[in-house]
Amino acid sequence: MKYDYDVIIIGSGPAGFSCAMQSSKFDKKVLVVEASEDTFGGTWINSGTIPSKALRETARIIQRFQNQFEDLAKEKAYEHHQMADLLLYKNKILRSKNDKIENDFRKNEIDTIRGFGKIKDDHTVAVETSEGETKEFTTEFVMLSTGSKPIKPKGFKVDHDKIMDYTSVLSLSHIPRRLVVIGSGVRALEYATTFSNLGSRVSILNEYDSFLPFLDHEITDQLKTVLEKQKIEVFSNAEKIEIKQNTLRNTTEVKYQLRNDKENGRAHVIETEHVLYLGGKQPNTENLGLKNVGVNTDKEGYVKVDEDFKTSVSHLYAGGDVIGYPAMASSSFSEGRIASCHMFGIEADNVTTDIPFAIYSIPEIADIGLTEQEARERNLDVTVGRAYYQNITQGDISKQEDGLLKLVFETDTLKLLGIHIIGERASDLIHLGQSVMAFGGDIRYFINHVLNYPTYSEAYRIAAFNGMNRVYKAGVKYKKILKKS
Ligand SMILES: Cc1cc2nc3c(=O)[nH]c(=O)nc-3n(C[C@H](O)[C@H](O)[C@H](O)COP(=O)(O)OP(=O)(O)OC[C@H]3O[C@@H](n4cnc5c(N)ncnc54)[C@H](O)[C@@H]3O)c2cc1C
Repeated sequence: MKYDYDVIIIGSGPAGFSCAMQSSKFDKKVLVVEASEDTFGGTWINSGTIPSKALRETARIIQRFQNQFEDLAKEKAYEHHQMADLLLYKNKILRSKNDKIENDFRKNEIDTIRGFGKIKDDHTVAVETSEGETKEFTTEFVMLSTGSKPIKPKGFKVDHDKIMDYTSVLSLSHIPRRLVVIGSGVRALEYATTFSNLGSRVSILNEYDSFLPFLDHEITDQLKTVLEKQKIEVFSNAEKIEIKQNTLRNTTEVKYQLRNDKENGRAHVIETEHVLYLGGKQPNTENLGLKNVGVNTDKEGYVKVDEDFKTSVSHLYAGGDVIGYPAMASSSFSEGRIASCHMFGIEADNVTTDIPFAIYSIPEIADIGLTEQEARERNLDVTVGRAYYQNITQGDISKQEDGLLKLVFETDTLKLLGIHIIGERASDLIHLGQSVMAFGGDIRYFINHVLNYPTYSEAYRIAAFNGMNRVYKAGVKYKKILKKS
């Protein structure tokens, strides 16, 4: 062989992991370089996706249990549960995932090395180990999957004690009575509802004028109701955020202004126990040696790739957070796999159009395709069908009555164009609709097929009937709709 390896992968998160696994299945010689001294899996396993979901799961279990029994419903989780126990649950999951990934590498004969990987020249990767040693390996292809890190906030410093980020929140010693979440995105909502369900009083400071503006407007309305019930306040247009410790009162003071208050310069202050900063992220491209070979990046530093995840240099590929949007573990898995396929001459479809999104708040939110407002902006003649969880038997049984599943479909053909869900299991539920959409199906699918009962999937059937009725009322003959296609 001309080189030491067929592919060297820098970073072992979901993009790197899936590229490694796929390449090994093509019988290729693979080396994974990982900067962390004791873990594989990056943000995915160790600080982001999995730990946040594990912690959320504990809050969800507690919330469901308490909801089931009226006399428990008013109690605060922190009165009965210790943070240490919740973190123990999370730590077990992380250990098990770390063992599994190491096992997968071993079983598939994927070589690994710990150290900071850097592109030295066209076909050489240099790895600096923690002992200060530099080792060099040659390779035909390189996969850049170095992920991202949080952008440092302006106006205050994350001290990982009173002011935490998504890494330090995983070492909290207790459930805070009061928490201010600073962030505008999905993760802010996830952590806000997790802690609110553990009994914390939570406020969100959002720097933009609307919160999660990409959601369908009816999902946003439902979300507002849910947040009100959980007593979570969202302050949008928040700016000039400053944080200081009040040692006399032993609290953390978060001072901010709302943009509309600018004229009179009014400042607002929230006294809190902890602050969780969940701002934006930036790609890990520093000192990677991209300039050594001429890899193009955009103005924010994200690596530019084509639809095959190839960079501006033909034997260098990139995937995951380092290339930017959509920057999720779910999409990163596909990107790593597709990159591997293209390296080794296997045709593979790009999957980054029509991908589902999930927000693991309590309750969950998930969507795919067009929102109602997007469809109308495109002058499409669409009708919607709705199913409220309070009308689904499973919602009753599980006492999960807050929720809505909404279908957006073409009035004439009934073709499914979008699905929007807020409610228990939304992140799983979305995939039934996704499949129907992927095959170009219409909403009759949910009526003409038997769905297990009781399940949350029943929502699809109810929403389809609801949509049909609306079409009927709009003048299209009902019999024509239901006739065999
Ligand atoms: C709090 C939180 C919750 C999230 N929840 C979800 C979710 O529910 N669903 C979802 O789909 N996504 C979620 N995400 C996003 C998801 O974690 C990321 O999109 C995903 O992990 C990105 O994968 P990646 O392969 O690009 O990189 P990462 O997972 O970040 O891994 C990159 C790896 O590269 C290593 N590395 C970096 N530089 C070098 C170098 N020079 N040499 C060697 N190694 C290097 C790092 O040590 C790291 O191990 C969440 C993120 C956060 C922060």
